[in-house]
Amino acid sequence: MGLVDTHCHLQSERFDEDRAAVLRRALDALDWIVLIGDTLESSQAAVDLLQNGVYAAVGVHPYHPEQADGEGIKRLRALAGVTRVVAIGEIGLDYYRYNEAPRDLQQRAFRAQLELAAELNLPVVIHNRDSQDDLAAILDEHYVSLCGGIMHCFSGDAAFVERCLLWDFHVSFAGNVTFPKAQALRDAAKAVPMNRLLVETDSPYLAPQPVRGKRCEPAFVRYTAETLATVKGIEVDELTAQTTANARALFRI
Ligand SMILES: [Zn+2]
Repeated sequence: MGLVDTHCHLQSERFDEDRAAVLRRALDALDWIVLIGDTLESSQAAVDLLQNGVYAAVGVHPYHPEQADGEGIKRLRALAGVTRVVAIGEIGLDYYRYNEAPRDLQQRAFRAQLELAAELNLPVVIHNRDSQDDLAAILDEHYVSLCGGIMHCFSGDAAFVERCLLWDFHVSFAGNVTFPKAQALRDAAKAVPMNRLLVETDSPYLAPQPVRGKRCEPAFVRYTAETLATVKGIEVDELTAQTTANARALFRI
């Protein structure tokens, strides 16, 4: 079993020039990848790219909460019915950029999409930035009706790991866990049980250490896997087998 990338945005315009080549490198290096939507348009674009080895999640990011209105939810429901769509996401809260999107609107969009995921029996891919308390309060209410989820690009501490496990979530690490100053993040990774750990790139963002600053692509996920293997004190092959098995079970692939 090889590595997988559970979170990338190859629909991004940053891949417009060479998307086919990036996709080929991804599928040469990895078993499969999941394209993640962040708007209605990018969710549709992810679905348009579905093929062997390519899966998708559809959803509306907290920066575009107005899209998760009645009509938007209807469109997401239709997209989620397509074969190879394996999750609702990315959804969540983001309070990092003040006034980017009003918090009450973000929360409403988040709840509506959690309800959609529960209705469709699909796992959720969660985005959280500087919004941990409100996000946790909403998930405390909703988790019982969900069939699992991913705290993507994890940025919390060991205590927040515990909270995620309580919701029966998986915890996914991106390239930033490889950065020299990210010891706190590596300590959090240490606290994640092996059967809950996932690895991702969040391409085109957050390229891991040896290629840091470059446009990230799914094939770079191996650097993040190497760091996590070191953190866990195991061989990268074992890390690979376990994280891929985790992702397969969660997405029912
Ligand atoms: Zn993302």
